Amino acid sequence: MSKETTKKCPNCGNTHLILLYSIKLKLCVDCRTEIPWFLDKGQKPLL
Ligand SMILES: [Zn+2]
Repeated sequence: MSKETTKKCPNCGNTHLILLYSIKLKLCVDCRTEIPWFLDKGQKPLL
């Protein structure tokens, strides 16, 4: 399962988001919208 499809871009609805683990941000590949990324409960941060 890919975590990339769990959220949509609020601007254009694109589900292909680049996950920027180090700065906890998602970046839409279409409109370059930056989306704050909060880890779900129980989800371990990947270090
Ligand atoms: Zn977008």
